[in-house]
Amino acid sequence: MVKALGLISGGLDSSLAAMTLMRQGIEVTGVAFETPFFNADKARAAAKAIGHKLIIENISDIHLQVVKNPQRGYGRNMNPCIDCHALMFKLAGDRMAKDGFDFLFSGEVLGQRPMSQNANALRSVAKLSGYPDKILRPLSAKLMDETLMEQSGLVDRERLLDIQGRSRKQQQALAKEWGLLDYPSSGGGCLLTEEGFSNQLRDLLTHTPQATTSDVELLKVGRQFRLSETAKLILGRHRTDNEALQQRASSDHIKIRCQNFSGPLGLLCGEHDDTILDSAAAIVASYGKGKNEVEIDMLCITGDEEFVRRVQPLPRETSREWLIR
Ligand code: SF4
Repeated sequence: MVKALGLISGGLDSSLAAMTLMRQGIEVTGVAFETPFFNADKARAAAKAIGHKLIIENISDIHLQVVKNPQRGYGRNMNPCIDCHALMFKLAGDRMAKDGFDFLFSGEVLGQRPMSQNANALRSVAKLSGYPDKILRPLSAKLMDETLMEQSGLVDRERLLDIQGRSRKQQQALAKEWGLLDYPSSGGGCLLTEEGFSNQLRDLLTHTPQATTSDVELLKVGRQFRLSETAKLILGRHRTDNEALQQRASSDHIKIRCQNFSGPLGLLCGEHDDTILDSAAAIVASYGKGKNEVEIDMLCITGDEEFVRRVQPLPRETSREWLIR
């Protein structure tokens, strides 16, 4: 039996690509990747709905290296889509070679995204991946050069599709025809395409080029304030944030909270002096119940050490000037 390994996001396109092949008797296995920027939840649901196997692989570290230094640059935000897809195809290709799959596929559609899914971009992705002759795009295959898989008869080209462009109408009609009733709306799912998150990531990578995935995870929590070239404050917005910060704090961080009033937890990250520490404490104070006090005691905890800094709470508007937006 012919065996194909596909990049599955769980969106409509990758589901239809898988179904296109399954409908001609090809055994489909999906692979979905997880990083701090996206997860495999939608892929899990889609694989279950369609009925193909799914492999989940966490690629956080290697993917972050690509995000830091993409050969083909970024899209509208911090999304390095061409390099990201190429990495996914490379990793899937390595698995294909190891586990005896015949070829790779994805749900990419020619012209659907002007920057990352035009004909040149699709060729670049294939070339960068190291497996250019092993990649099939079933949804647009009839508009593209015939692949070795089609030439050799592994895949029936006549039963592949000729979808192109940004409209989703053809895909929606096919989904209805093939009984695929429940699928997620298009877009979303990747934090790298979001402007606000991208601004915070850009700030992190500019000031901390050696940032790890743990640093990236912290971007998802609370408000982020840039205090100096080296120091940053993360401030919880609600109890869930405060608990997340509490859990993720390391011995390099200083936890800051009001000593005698309720209020949020702040996490001071990076090298700092006492002036920066006091600024961080004054910002944390400005979001707590003691914000109108003339002076307030702020408890600072790092590792096993605890100490108190007395500061004047900043006016909230002044605090906001440090926000990374
Ligand atoms: S949207 Fe995100 S996950 Fe998708 S290719 Fe671009 S960077 Fe990668």
